[in-house]
Amino acid sequence: MAKLLELGLFEFLDQIKKDGRARYVGFSFHDEASLFKEIVDAYQWDVCQIQYNYLDIDYQAGHEGLLYAASRNLGIIIMEPLRGGCLADMVPDDIMKIWDKSEIKRTPAEWGLSYIWDLEQISMVLSGMSNREQLKENLATANKALPHSLTEKDHSLIREVREIYRDKLVVDCTGCRYCLPCPAGVQIPLNFKYLNNAMLYENIEDASRAYASHVGDERKASKCIDCGQCAERCPQDIPIPEMLAEVTRLLEK
Ligand code: SF4
Ligand code: SF4
Repeated sequence: MAKLLELGLFEFLDQIKKDGRARYVGFSFHDEASLFKEIVDAYQWDVCQIQYNYLDIDYQAGHEGLLYAASRNLGIIIMEPLRGGCLADMVPDDIMKIWDKSEIKRTPAEWGLSYIWDLEQISMVLSGMSNREQLKENLATANKALPHSLTEKDHSLIREVREIYRDKLVVDCTGCRYCLPCPAGVQIPLNFKYLNNAMLYENIEDASRAYASHVGDERKASKCIDCGQCAERCPQDIPIPEMLAEVTRLLEK
């Protein structure tokens, strides 16, 4: 942020609003809640965009950041409401059994989007869609999902689902990146993301394929030389080299 201030960001934003090039200005955010609040307070923003879904309520800006932005009258745009589609596709059976307990039948995507629309602070939800059917389903959900439309029973099911997903996460990595840079080039949080996905969705094969194509040889877990620098910097006290060995064992075939 210091660099942006040095470059005159706020003066630039003032100017484009004044001369009519922009009516509203905002920012998109991926970092910790404390930095989010700092940015919110630094300027008269109109809108902000944060990652949020029923699983990530304590991640990045999280619920705390959402309420903070709303208290400052910012419009709030949500990205990743279905965690890149993971909350909607390949849903594990034990999660489906919980959704099936509801009298009102909703698809996993509907549950995820309804959770977001239930919050009165939300202005807009961005959800990636890959075909017309998904578009129709999401429009139908947005049409009926009003603030406070979920019941206490619905929220209780969502809490149950959240707990099960959390139990399946093997590494409690928040993606803060304090562990980086690694002298061997290992992209630590990215490696942990694929390990968690493998466990969450109980699909090692798909996770290995995605791992090979998205992480790549230069950043993969087996490049770790066990220097221990990263573990000292991790606020979550994750035994990083040990967990990277697990990534190698499971995903590097
Ligand atoms: S222990 Fe491994 S992952 Fe951590 S900084 Fe050293 S080489 Fe990188
Ligand atoms: S391993 Fe630790 S320091 Fe690195 S991104 Fe994850 S939580 Fe942050």
